[in-house]
Amino acid sequence: MSALIEAVGLTRTFEVSAGMFQAKRLLHAVNGVDLSVERGDVLGIVGESGCGKSTLARMLLGLVPPTQGSVRIDGIALERMDRRERARRVQPVFQDPYSSLNPRRTIQSIVEFPLAVHGIGTSAQRRERAIEMLARVGLPDRLAGQSAGQLSGGQRQRVAIARALVMNPEVVVCDEPTSALDVSVQAQILNLLMDLRREFNLTYVFISHNLAVVEHIATQVAVMYLGRVVEFNDAKALFATPRHPYTQALLASVLTPEPGLGIPDMGLGLSFPDPTNPPSGCGFHPRCRQRLAVCETQMPGLLPCNNGTGLVACHLDRDPA
Ligand code: SF4
Repeated sequence: MSALIEAVGLTRTFEVSAGMFQAKRLLHAVNGVDLSVERGDVLGIVGESGCGKSTLARMLLGLVPPTQGSVRIDGIALERMDRRERARRVQPVFQDPYSSLNPRRTIQSIVEFPLAVHGIGTSAQRRERAIEMLARVGLPDRLAGQSAGQLSGGQRQRVAIARALVMNPEVVVCDEPTSALDVSVQAQILNLLMDLRREFNLTYVFISHNLAVVEHIATQVAVMYLGRVVEFNDAKALFATPRHPYTQALLASVLTPEPGLGIPDMGLGLSFPDPTNPPSGCGFHPRCRQRLAVCETQMPGLLPCNNGTGLVACHLDRDPA
């Protein structure tokens, strides 16, 4: 089966000010990422804050242009599509439903807005479609005339999902869609996303720092560290037998009393490195208990695991001895 959405050598750099009298530094937010997602799959992308996952999400949506590489949907580069075609293919659901929805606009106008922007349907048809989508995400039509500011966080995220689906997209890029919500509401939103995936044959790219959430929803998982994918595998295989030491540390963090707050202190005494001055060789080597001499000088490529499933960027996997 061919990929529905692909990232090919996707790279994004930013110039970062280092102070009034110092030269600007280059930050590789995303560095040479190759990923592909087949129709109907859910690709979970996980990693700590600053690993590049949100920049990657914005490039997949066409909101941030890549410095190098491209995003393709059904083999067509995103930059070759006009705005309407892009909106019909891929839509976002962002983290914070409080800031992503205008609190003064009515729910109905928020949901039908993408249709109006792209000149789709009459106003009556747009209204009907918006009410239909609100029903699909579990919001009664009596709420259609209320402003977003009157809704709870969970209801707002349902509105954001309805707005994403009103264009009938093929791919939905969800960037931390539940992390601003109460735990009890998170499960409802995840279940809703899974139901909608089945009903509309959606393909998701699901960004999260929380492996427990990703385990619930993903069919494949990519683990990112310092702008690169360090492990990629089917979700079941990755959770059963994580290969990369960083993935192992992330999984260990799920077992801490406060899951999802980043990787635990592994006794290494080092926090996430400065992305404008990344470590030599493997970017994880200052924090890795299993590092080899070669890890400090040579960056491992993302290659097939030596047990035959998935991809991993780690010298240990090259050297089973
Ligand atoms: Fe650790 Fe070396 Fe593997 Fe990097 S390449 S994760 S430092 S063992």
